[in-house]
Amino acid sequence: MHTELAETGKLQELLGRLGAGLDTFQEFTHLDAQHPSKDWQSQLTTALPQQGEGIDSVLDTLIQQVVANGSPVPKPGFTSYITTGATTIATLATTAASVASPQRYMLTAFNLLEELSLQWMAEMFSLGAMQGVYSSGGSVANLVAMGAARQSAFERIGIDPAANGVTRPVSIYASTECHHTIQRAAGVLGLGRRAVKAIACDDQGRMLVSELVRAIEADLANDILPMAIVANAGTTNTGAIDPLAKIGAIAKQYGIWFHVDGAYGLPGILDERISHLFAGLELADSVIVDPHKWLGASVGVAATYVHDRELLRRAFTQEPADYLEGTALQEGEPSARVEHSLDDFGIPYFDYGVELSAPCRGVVVWAMIREIGVTGLRQRMRRHNDMAAFIVTFAEDYPQLEILLAPTLSICCFRYVSEGVADLDRLNQRLHRQLVRENQYMPSTTRVKGQLALRPCFVGARHEQDQVEGLMAAVLRIGATLV
Ligand SMILES: *Cc1c(COP(=O)(O)O)cnc(C)c1O
Repeated sequence: MHTELAETGKLQELLGRLGAGLDTFQEFTHLDAQHPSKDWQSQLTTALPQQGEGIDSVLDTLIQQVVANGSPVPKPGFTSYITTGATTIATLATTAASVASPQRYMLTAFNLLEELSLQWMAEMFSLGAMQGVYSSGGSVANLVAMGAARQSAFERIGIDPAANGVTRPVSIYASTECHHTIQRAAGVLGLGRRAVKAIACDDQGRMLVSELVRAIEADLANDILPMAIVANAGTTNTGAIDPLAKIGAIAKQYGIWFHVDGAYGLPGILDERISHLFAGLELADSVIVDPHKWLGASVGVAATYVHDRELLRRAFTQEPADYLEGTALQEGEPSARVEHSLDDFGIPYFDYGVELSAPCRGVVVWAMIREIGVTGLRQRMRRHNDMAAFIVTFAEDYPQLEILLAPTLSICCFRYVSEGVADLDRLNQRLHRQLVRENQYMPSTTRVKGQLALRPCFVGARHEQDQVEGLMAAVLRIGATLV
């Protein structure tokens, strides 16, 4: 019988076994979890165990039944989402943190790397002296940024919205292509989803500045407080980058908070061929980026940047608590000297966002940057942007391939066309379903200018040129069988 002390064995041996299972998984020769021949669901769905089976047996089942029926997301040919499989160094750093520093606060090496990695990203992505805070993903990162914007807008009219709530209707201006986490943030912050005013885009998916100005003017005439302008540095749909310099200038002119959502696209600034598209970033009051997207971190890592984290503290402080601050070294104590990691919390990230307990994310970002450096990351961004551009060149030779939107970053939207087929949306939908079922190349679909598009998004460290060539060959082959 196994009791609560049943933990046996050393991590070296146990992680070795798990590592072997994960290596096999990453050969990606296994069938998909939902393949009709698979029967793991009945094997895993057991009754609540009253007696423990011990670590060995659980590890075996973890490897054989769970890992082996994991997600297609890390597959090299999977190009549906902007999240991807973690790089190996990210996996290692995440594992190390889960053991050696389950929390990001206190005076430890992990807390130091939290800050150092935020500063490295700020430097790498041209954010100057902006200060950051990590959170679980772009959703929370946008929420934190909108919380800062709310704090700033209301403080200017003499109200502390974090303490007293909001007292006036506000507007957040974001393009029709913005990520819907902006609307959710508005809801959570008590502003209401409808506070987000959808600004129309041009035919490249970029916010129309004239429409933005019109919306602001209309609100001002109606005594609605303009709270924030949200611009995209890489939309999720197509990778479009809004005219940041023009939008930033409007924000300054009207005195409105300027937020740039670079969850996906900000690392694209490393590709010198397109870095000019990010001009105006220096005007931003807040910026977010998701290292768990293009940088290849394990999922659960995003960062929000602002110029002064004191604003975040006012927006998000959880207020002092006896069980927290009271346990640290008290200022003015005769022996107020740091000699233990518990003497101080280090940088109080828990006051700059919405999470108290949180994993160390900085060590993951730090490790990824140290592994291949800015140069290595730049090469990766360029390789992925080249893969999206390759599709455009490739399609020139095939009348059955139509580019619906030329790529800005590493997303290309195209479709299969045939003169004899009236319903091209349906054709491409069927083509897409078959692609996915074949389990090799898995782009997503989206709608571009009202038409259904195949949408590969190249962000995974394991995406190579043969994936894009294989995808195009598969599209041509399946398309021909369907028409
Ligand atoms: C992915 C994405 C988000 C949301 O990020 P999560 O990490 O999935 O929560 C927000 N904005 C943009 C532009 C994104 O691409």
